[in-house]
Amino acid sequence: MKRLFAFLFALCFLYAPRADAAVPAFAFATIDQAKAVLTARDEFVQRLSPFDRAARLKTNADVSEAQYLIFVGTQAAAWSEADKAQVQAVLADLTPRLAAMPLPWPATVLLIKTTGQEEGGAPYTRANAIILPATVLSRAPRGELQEMVAHELFHILTRQSPALKEKLYAAIGFKPCGEVAFPLVLRSRKITSPDAPKNDHCIRLDFAGEEAWAIPLLFATSERYDPARGGEFFAYLELSFLKVEGGGAEPPAKATYDNAQLYLVPVTAIRGFTEQVGRNTEYIIHPEEILADNFSLLLAQDKAVASPDVLQKIRAILLAAKPS
Ligand SMILES: [Zn+2]
Repeated sequence: MKRLFAFLFALCFLYAPRADAAVPAFAFATIDQAKAVLTARDEFVQRLSPFDRAARLKTNADVSEAQYLIFVGTQAAAWSEADKAQVQAVLADLTPRLAAMPLPWPATVLLIKTTGQEEGGAPYTRANAIILPATVLSRAPRGELQEMVAHELFHILTRQSPALKEKLYAAIGFKPCGEVAFPLVLRSRKITSPDAPKNDHCIRLDFAGEEAWAIPLLFATSERYDPARGGEFFAYLELSFLKVEGGGAEPPAKATYDNAQLYLVPVTAIRGFTEQVGRNTEYIIHPEEILADNFSLLLAQDKAVASPDVLQKIRAILLAAKPS
């Protein structure tokens, strides 16, 4: 009896989550838990443009926020045992890699399954939840799923720790410059990411030999989603950099620009960008995404990258961070 007690005690000691755990606990969300996260009027939902909402519902009609919320809530799906096993295998691989780098994670990361129809069939995050579409779970090879989960974990981390986020953004040249209102002519076409819904970090670029601060903006190539053409909103993405006024070595605290004279440079024409953010990823729509891909590469450990210096900088910042 005594031996059994000691054994049970040891088990509890081994498996009870510690307050300073280096890795979060992962929990599969019920449909109700999923709906609560998906339908929250968080900073993402509040920033959705008319194009954002219509494109998610694949319509050219106006879509209200209420209509969008009903739609997104109904995309929550139940986890099957096979889905769970697949994700658990990925987490088992990632956990020791995460534990080697104690970071300020939330206590729990929620795992939500959806149809994927609400966000172009791509994985993403809301609050402390990673959302995985049914299509990804059924089709993505394990290595790819692991890269995706690692990428999404980064978004959870920066949402949990704004101070760490600022250090990481600065490592690739992005500094806070106030949330910039979308240019009037593009406002209805704005495309918003649930992982980085704010446009509030600027980078110093070379504008025809003159350095100035600029902010990346993502918008649709057309005013309305075209149901006849079909497809996901990803097919409409256009990325440009808006030059903002003021600032010197540091960006202006509240970036401004002239709506009547927009200085908007397509991503193909910007200068001085890859020198700062590196060449490890082509997913450069927002500093949050550049870093999330680099974080995923860091956890992959064995992948050769074009800009190892960027990975080293990120690793040094993460290793200096304190767990929550
Ligand atoms: Zn992302």
